[in-house]
Amino acid sequence: MQDVLVIGAGPAGLSLAAALGETGLAVQGLALDDPAHPWPNTYGIWVDELEDLGLVRFLEHRWKDCVVHVNSGMVPLHREYGLLDRNQLQAHWLTQAEKHQVTWHQGKANHIEHFATHTQVTTAAGETFTARLVVDATGHQSSLVKRAVAPELAFQAAYGIIGRFSEPPTHPQQMVLMDFRDDYLTPAQRHEPPTFLYSMDLGDGLYFVEETSLAHYPAVSLETLNQRLHQRLRHRGIEVKDIHHVERCLFPMNQPLPDFAQRVVGFGGAASMVHPASGYMIGALLRRGPGLAKAIALALDSPQCTPALAASQAWQALWPADRVRKHYLYLFGLENLMAFNTPQLHQFFAAFFSLPTDDWAGFLADSKALPEVVQAMIGLFGRAPNSVRLGLMRSVFTHGHLLGRTLMS
Ligand SMILES: Cc1cc2nc3c(=O)[nH]c(=O)nc-3n(C[C@H](O)[C@H](O)[C@H](O)COP(=O)(O)OP(=O)(O)OC[C@H]3O[C@@H](n4cnc5c(N)ncnc54)[C@H](O)[C@@H]3O)c2cc1C
Repeated sequence: MQDVLVIGAGPAGLSLAAALGETGLAVQGLALDDPAHPWPNTYGIWVDELEDLGLVRFLEHRWKDCVVHVNSGMVPLHREYGLLDRNQLQAHWLTQAEKHQVTWHQGKANHIEHFATHTQVTTAAGETFTARLVVDATGHQSSLVKRAVAPELAFQAAYGIIGRFSEPPTHPQQMVLMDFRDDYLTPAQRHEPPTFLYSMDLGDGLYFVEETSLAHYPAVSLETLNQRLHQRLRHRGIEVKDIHHVERCLFPMNQPLPDFAQRVVGFGGAASMVHPASGYMIGALLRRGPGLAKAIALALDSPQCTPALAASQAWQALWPADRVRKHYLYLFGLENLMAFNTPQLHQFFAAFFSLPTDDWAGFLADSKALPEVVQAMIGLFGRAPNSVRLGLMRSVFTHGHLLGRTLMS
């Protein structure tokens, strides 16, 4: 019998299968497609997050000139950003996994049944796979990992184009993390949910421009985002000349945390690992995968270990109490972002990105301990204009339960 079955071959599944293989466990993978099938998404990450892990070589593009635009002006970020070479990263993890005899199967995991010593997964085609432990890495829409049903799921949505344009849509060699300027909208549109442009110079006359809704319930439609992207470009006198790739993005930002008592372990979108206030997750996968793999290997190695105990120890390694508490603080942040009106939102981001870089970077990467994150947020409160402070204080009344879980759980 295999030790672990990893279901899903996105960044979460491939990275964890490779890390598990490296621990010496017998690992199998199951995915809808060939695991070498190219991933559809572009993945951005801050360069220092990769530097800390020694993985900078997987960047395809890097930008030193990174900025945010709000209506009152431009905020320089003083931090280097990059786009991952997704094909190279995927190939790297597949090679690593292969080196450790991880074998991949194709099929749709449909049904899961737990026994005292193992778990059995049945595919839509009726094939069965057994392993001592099953990891669900099937993404944000996962149906294997159990969690509470969210009353209101907020979604990040984006519509992007990689292509050529009549004029550069950003300054050459620049990355615009968020351009919230709304001068291109009609007065009526300014009352609709805010969106921003994420854009970058890819070199050789190619640019990536993506109109993005950071988070909204219900999701802003891709049609609206597409229409806004073109309206924004037209307003600046820019024509789309050539489209090389279209990116469509939609995923939940506040998926409830999984039930940590279940026998299936999650990783990636399936384990609610997306940062609720930013939508980023790749850095978290890279930082947390090896630790999770080691915890699983240690648990399965113990002679007294039952699969239920191994799953419990794995969940504990992935979501220790301190991380859960920070997660609720980020969820509180998300609720604030969605409740702000446009001027508040612009003032908030101007204040947030004017914090010491280490503070906002630590918040976004979830790399700081809870007291440090709280300290940074107090710093933000001190720096923010009164209208933003008022918005934050209102949220304490409407979403104080999230702060309660941060401070008391
Ligand atoms: C368009 C887009 C852009 C993004 N950009 C960024 C970014 O720049 N930076 C960042 O940090 N994050 C980004 N994210 C967020 C997040 O990092 C991605 O969603 C990431 O792809 C999630 O990884 P995952 O492996 O958990 O899930 P996925 O990438 O969704 O992979 C899931 C895998 O599971 C397989 N699968 C699904 N169901 C089954 C089943 N029943 N049986 C077997 N296999 C199954 C799928 O075929 C797939 O292989 C982006 C998300 C999107 C949608």
